[in-house]
Amino acid sequence: MGHFPILDGHNDTLLRLHKSNDTPSFFTESTSGHIDLPRAKKGGLGGGFFAVYTPDAVDQGGPESHLTETGYDVPLPPMISHERALTFSNALAAKLFQIEAASDGQFKVVRTAAELKDCLQQQDMMAAIFHIEGAEAIDTNLDALHVLYQAGLRSLGIVWSRPNLFGEGVPFRYPSSPDTGSGLTDAGKALVRECNQLGIMIDTTHLNEKGFWDVANITDAPIVATHSNAHALSPSARNLTDKQLAAIAASGGVAGINYAVNMLRQDGGLGTNISLDNIVRHVAYIAENFGVDHVALGSDFDGTTVSDSLSDVTGLPHLLERLKAHGFDDDELQKITHGNWVRVLENTWK
Ligand SMILES: [Zn+2]
Repeated sequence: MGHFPILDGHNDTLLRLHKSNDTPSFFTESTSGHIDLPRAKKGGLGGGFFAVYTPDAVDQGGPESHLTETGYDVPLPPMISHERALTFSNALAAKLFQIEAASDGQFKVVRTAAELKDCLQQQDMMAAIFHIEGAEAIDTNLDALHVLYQAGLRSLGIVWSRPNLFGEGVPFRYPSSPDTGSGLTDAGKALVRECNQLGIMIDTTHLNEKGFWDVANITDAPIVATHSNAHALSPSARNLTDKQLAAIAASGGVAGINYAVNMLRQDGGLGTNISLDNIVRHVAYIAENFGVDHVALGSDFDGTTVSDSLSDVTGLPHLLERLKAHGFDDDELQKITHGNWVRVLENTWK
């Protein structure tokens, strides 16, 4: 069997560690949450995008708290303040660097494609990409963006679902089109241009459709959605229409498949007793219709509810088996597990 380290498009492990106030637990095998270093090694996780995300001021509950006759409809939360986001983001980013410092060389915050590739080749080294999900911590002068870049920021989601000064996201709604609101603000458009100039990857995940097309029209980098699935197979507002997937492919970009059960299931259901073939189905749909160069993995580990058949990051070898059983060959598996992410970042980072 070839070597297929998984480079994953999205995790919320920093937030989970922050909530439990227990950074050292990253180095100890646990049964809570989805990712820690020992389990990541068992699962073959070579690295991933580590999200710095500031939660809502008031937790309004997930889809299970907002059920409708045909699915669910979670209202968009109100904006949060720049001050709160800045303080919270600093806490999570600090955690990322504390983990790196305490890792004895086993965990590296990568800033270049060469560093990323080097980490992926080493069995005992995990690559972390510093990602911010929702740009509230960044002022509209974009001064913080420059400081964050110097600190290692290499990927930015303009919005999480709630609106901010740069744009607006989709609500967690099923069934729903992703065309749910207005596009990027002028500040949002300026943010895209500045990210292009610095070489920060822009993540369109969570943007509504108008915002997605604003990014697509402005950016000079490949279009990326780090943790979103195929709308044709699961018509959630969070998933990507065929038109969006075609634009991602045409730009040389990639979509990372999210393991959230409600974004995989055709019926949008929240039940977790589903097979890993639900993930394979979305990977195969994009590979077959838009090209195998344009699909990767974007687990949302530690940020969502995954199927019982996956359980946590140690379930990844089973997912690889299912992808193989579907018929993907070694070259295709190499692209899906990490090669496509590496290519996109090589073409985006400076
Ligand atoms: Zn997310």
